[in-house]
Amino acid sequence: MSVRCLRPPTDRMKSAGPKFRPSREARDRISFRLVGVCVRPKAVQSSIPDRRATMAIHGGGCLCGAVRYETLTDPARVTICHCKFCQRATGSAYMVEPIFPLEALRVTKGAPAVYDIRSEGSGKIVHVHFCQNCGTKLYLSFERFADSCGVYAGTFDDPNWFEMPPDYSKHIFIAEARSDTILPAAMPVFEQHAMRNDGTPLEPVVFEHPHVVGRQKSAG
Ligand SMILES: [Zn+2]
Ligand SMILES: [Zn+2]
Repeated sequence: MSVRCLRPPTDRMKSAGPKFRPSREARDRISFRLVGVCVRPKAVQSSIPDRRATMAIHGGGCLCGAVRYETLTDPARVTICHCKFCQRATGSAYMVEPIFPLEALRVTKGAPAVYDIRSEGSGKIVHVHFCQNCGTKLYLSFERFADSCGVYAGTFDDPNWFEMPPDYSKHIFIAEARSDTILPAAMPVFEQHAMRNDGTPLEPVVFEHPHVVGRQKSAG
């Protein structure tokens, strides 16, 4: 694959692993939201689009409505995963996976069943939480990252409530991506995982133009 690195990865990208911490502004938002107060200082308020000013709690659920959940914070980061596991699990081209602290997700109705599968890459168990009535997958939790969970973004009532800016989002496993998938410009992109099994962060590629998987030249 021919790729062009537009700019060297920032320290933030390098650290965008499980220890990634949101920006100060994001932390401020989270702390305000955690105490359930929607009023922010004027300086912060003015820099946040209106959509951000909504309540922190965001609900989601399965197709049949038997299982409902809520998340209580903004995502710590967003992973867009193109691996074969995610293709098979979603039945689609990739998974949009906002990552939350496990304690920031609570099941509010029903109880998801759990299917355990061993990750080919890490050898660690991934727990797939799903509705045993309708089969909808709702979220993942991990042996490897025990304090985190990854939500199947399409199960949120409003899948667009969170943003996916380059400073805390990334595309991974593009080596397995479906042909003709279009990767956006200016996003950290990884051939496979964003880190080695020992936790060492890997270098992302950043495309200058939107990149079409499986084509020699980028679309731009
Ligand atoms: Zn269901
Ligand atoms: Zn995946």
